[in-house]
Amino acid sequence: MNVQIYMDHAATTPVRREVVNAMLPFFTDRFGNPSSPYREGMEARQVIDRARSQVAEVLGASPEEITFTGCGTEADNWALVGAAEMGRRRGRHIITSSVEHHAVLNSCRYLEQRGYRVTYLPVSEEGVVFVEDLRRALRRDTILVSIMTANNEVGSIQPIAQLAEAAHERGALFHTYSVHAFAHISLSVEELQVDLLSASGHKFGGPKGVGFLYIRDGVSLEPFLHGGGQESGRRAGTENVAEIVGMGEAARLSAIRMEERAVHVGQLRNYLIRRMRREIPLCRLNGSQENRLPGNASFCFAFVDGSALVLRLGADGICASGASACTAGSGQPSHVLLAMGLPGELAAGSLRLTLGEENTRAQIDRVVERIAVHVAELRSRSPAYEEFRQGRAHRGILRYFPGNG
Ligand SMILES: *Cc1c(COP(=O)(O)O)cnc(C)c1O
Repeated sequence: MNVQIYMDHAATTPVRREVVNAMLPFFTDRFGNPSSPYREGMEARQVIDRARSQVAEVLGASPEEITFTGCGTEADNWALVGAAEMGRRRGRHIITSSVEHHAVLNSCRYLEQRGYRVTYLPVSEEGVVFVEDLRRALRRDTILVSIMTANNEVGSIQPIAQLAEAAHERGALFHTYSVHAFAHISLSVEELQVDLLSASGHKFGGPKGVGFLYIRDGVSLEPFLHGGGQESGRRAGTENVAEIVGMGEAARLSAIRMEERAVHVGQLRNYLIRRMRREIPLCRLNGSQENRLPGNASFCFAFVDGSALVLRLGADGICASGASACTAGSGQPSHVLLAMGLPGELAAGSLRLTLGEENTRAQIDRVVERIAVHVAELRSRSPAYEEFRQGRAHRGILRYFPGNG
């Protein structure tokens, strides 16, 4: 496959060469089971513990607070279901937001079917949860609050420290889905004061099929998988040694010059946003200009079918996504954009470009140029756009494009 321009880093990231090299021996010569009592086993145990320290260090956590899982989704399911079961006697109320990833939302639906009550907090136009809304929603029987660190679709960063503080005042645990923020922006569990934090290896230069859950010392969770005593009895199943090693190495590398990299990627993103706004009519930036993940640029175009645009870019060798990779093909407008107050017809015209450090300005120039061509072409076939152009209908849409159009 010849990927020309990859701008979908929120879907997955290329595995770093150093990470591949670190993993390879554990698929071949060094294949021991970490539970075995001889040298090969002890060696595997040691490299897992090193990876645990590498991940912990990025968060300012201690290694015993990190448990490896089979993916980010598993870590979310475990955090939600494990905390709900553990807190069952105290209460059955959970609070989350309306813009969470489906790994959290569908875990909440599962719990609702089992007698738990879930409150879904609204968000601002920029996709941010209001701390006051959380305070009002907290009850005596609230056992868990789960709010993502940063949104996967529009990149908005949530006020996690304040939200966690509000939850703790009422005795609830606080979980955050950090899959798109961990190793991209600096996160400290001491500053954030979260109890549970989940992330996934393949969103920061590691392999797919491995993730972790941070569990604050003193917090106990019902195990999610039952079996052997691996991971201190918290997560049964033989450890995925090679991938855990890979994720540890990716975490270690990401911590080197993280701030500098975030600034660099943020500058590329700002360049992209500036050009898009200047050159494409009726193009809206979703979320806030400043308070967003460094690599995220999410747009809505009026009178354009976002999935058609993504397909055309794909044919040009440009990898992008609609609102998110997971809902692609569902034909549904993004629940995140709807929760942010966008009308369905605009939400259906969304495009997410997520940049990584290897992207260049020349690539951005090419992408903007192709988007301009496709947007104009798709609009030329839209009867609604024709009506709009002639001033006959759809003028209300202009309010979503201040200073543009
Ligand atoms: C990031 C992401 C997830 C969560 O991480 P996994 O390790 O893949 O579970 C799930 N689905 C999609 C589409 C994602 O982009």
